[in-house]
Amino acid sequence: MSEQKYDSYFLMKVDDVASYVQTKLSFFPKNANFECKEIGDGNLNYVFRVKDKNTGKSIIVKQAGTSLRIDKNMHLPVDRGKIESRILGIQKEYTKDLVPEVYLYDTVMCAMIMEDMVKHTMMRTGLTEHKTFPRFAEDISTFLVNSLLLSSDIVKNHKEKKNLVKEFINPDLCEITEDLVFTEPYNDCNNRNKIFPPNLEYVQKNLYEDKKLHLEVAKLKFEFLNNAQSLLHGDLHTGSIFINQNHTFVFDPEFAFYGPMGYDIGNVIANLFFAWCNGDATIDDDEEKDKFCSYILDTIEKSVDLFNDKFDKSFKENVTDRMAKTDQFMEYYHDTILADSAGYTGLELIRRIAGMAKVIDITNIKDEKKRVRAERILITFGKETILDRNKFKNGSDYIKAFKDIVARF
Ligand code: ADP
Ligand code: MG
Repeated sequence: MSEQKYDSYFLMKVDDVASYVQTKLSFFPKNANFECKEIGDGNLNYVFRVKDKNTGKSIIVKQAGTSLRIDKNMHLPVDRGKIESRILGIQKEYTKDLVPEVYLYDTVMCAMIMEDMVKHTMMRTGLTEHKTFPRFAEDISTFLVNSLLLSSDIVKNHKEKKNLVKEFINPDLCEITEDLVFTEPYNDCNNRNKIFPPNLEYVQKNLYEDKKLHLEVAKLKFEFLNNAQSLLHGDLHTGSIFINQNHTFVFDPEFAFYGPMGYDIGNVIANLFFAWCNGDATIDDDEEKDKFCSYILDTIEKSVDLFNDKFDKSFKENVTDRMAKTDQFMEYYHDTILADSAGYTGLELIRRIAGMAKVIDITNIKDEKKRVRAERILITFGKETILDRNKFKNGSDYIKAFKDIVARF
């Protein structure tokens, strides 16, 4: 076992990772009794858990492959983990224990060694099992306000911020979003949309043929491309969150770049609506269904409202830019973020129904009629949050608009 072994890139197998960690870190004792597993279920990378059976301590190794696990013909730069480990470090500064700790990023092996988020489960998995997480609204609102506002020009020295903008130029990952979120769901121009067959005509009429919608999506796309407002996570769905009853971790930020705050916020909101649709369509017992679905709506409402309160409080406490302290500027700025958040909520809702990448909350609905209904509710609601995005200011604005639409289906 020598350092030599890791001086040029190769894709590690489960048998390599224990010696790799021992070579790179002094995290485990020399006499550790290792058990290693590949645990990756994501689309892009190889993830291993290395555990010392003597102490129970464990660590995670995440390595980038040269081609993507979902599609061997798709390629991304192998050093994309550098952006991910760097942003995890910055987010740790801003949000403390809400992100896992990175111990090492290895530029040769393109691998990251990080804290194992033990005793947490992926939020999407938990929600599709209809578990509830009472801390979520509190934690995610703190995460959003701290990671987004503290990295913006409101707080950060403008030159330092520009250096970060440069460091986080992330063209390959952004291109995926630009295509899969902002373009293809409205025209299937690359012929890779996956649409539930009974909704093909519905998608055609309501998404592909709606020119008024395309105009608003185009505006939001150019906001995404051009508004280097904050350091975004960039892929903040419930598969990027590990959670339990009293704590939340946000991870997997490899889509990070400087973009509009509303993109992260809208992703969180949209993914909670997927969970609602899953509960509504798949829970048989009325009382249980009502309990789960009310929890989700309540969490959406609280997440937005707590974000609003914490945003204003943090703005007042941390603003450094002299002109940003002008009377009424905070209100103006906050309002633009809320409108963006609503717009991006709609984009995420629509792209998971009409685009290439799906969410199990919806694909797990086995009853065809119920899935058709859930998808139509989400498309209709998504269009409303895009087209009328200025009217979504508080949590209750989302809940009211959503309930009105559900009642029509
Ligand atoms: P990808 O970029 O390929 O999507 P992820 O970071 O999402 O990779 O990791 C894939 C899976 O590996 C996660 O869903 C989770 O189950 C597991 N995983 C990744 N990082 C950790 C960690 N720090 N602690 C525990 N599990 C992890
Ligand atoms: Mg992932």
